[in-house]
Amino acid sequence: MNENIHEQLATNIAEVRANIAAAAQRAGRSAEKIRLVAVSKTVAVELVKIAYNLGVTHFGENRVQDALPKIADFHPQGVYWHMIGHLQSNKANKVVAPFDSVQSVDSLHLAQALNRHAAEQGKLLPVLLQVNVSGEASKEGMTPAEAPALARQIAALPALEVLGMMTIAPLVANAEKARPVFRALRELRDQLQNEVPHCSWEELSMGMTDDYRIAIEEGATIVRIGRAIFGERVYKGVTTHET
Ligand SMILES: *Cc1c(COP(=O)(O)O)cnc(C)c1O
Repeated sequence: MNENIHEQLATNIAEVRANIAAAAQRAGRSAEKIRLVAVSKTVAVELVKIAYNLGVTHFGENRVQDALPKIADFHPQGVYWHMIGHLQSNKANKVVAPFDSVQSVDSLHLAQALNRHAAEQGKLLPVLLQVNVSGEASKEGMTPAEAPALARQIAALPALEVLGMMTIAPLVANAEKARPVFRALRELRDQLQNEVPHCSWEELSMGMTDDYRIAIEEGATIVRIGRAIFGERVYKGVTTHET
């Protein structure tokens, strides 16, 4: 059983890495600049450990309650845990210590709460600003219009290190349809690089199982991949494509 899982994960990870390399090459980019975050939500920590043994060092989780036991179980030096899901400000105190970054900062209120707890713990917390580029009501994130003003205020918080932006593209049948969303995030980033110059704005976290190749062509530096690595997710006995 375990050997099969190991083999399956090895195949999946190799395939994802090959696709990342091919997409980078199409865009004339270096694949080394693209970080693979394996999204381990709903997945047992044993599979995280297998992925780690296969060379994956970055993991993403979207629910605090599910993530905390896994991180407590497995957080050796060189493993990085990313919070990628919507976070209520009153849970900020729970994520600052265990997580290595929060990619889903979508409000000033949340940023201030994270900043306060990070300062208390003497930690500089790397964050990304989550932008709802597509404007879908179901998606979290600040609007592109409010991003510059929020970016300026969040960048001024001393215990947060703003590294860039994150977005989730709409679910579409053809990944090509997500391309304008990725392009728009990159253009917004370029704008912020000019307007809020004391942050690097280097990181663009965009692209998931169905659309990471396109996201890389549009400049993604971080791809967040769940199903292509760990297989379809099972929620309470139901297999689904939904995030
Ligand atoms: C679940 C999730 C992912 C990974 O989705 P897959 O389609 O399984 O690759 C990426 N980002 C976020 C924010 C998620 O919630």
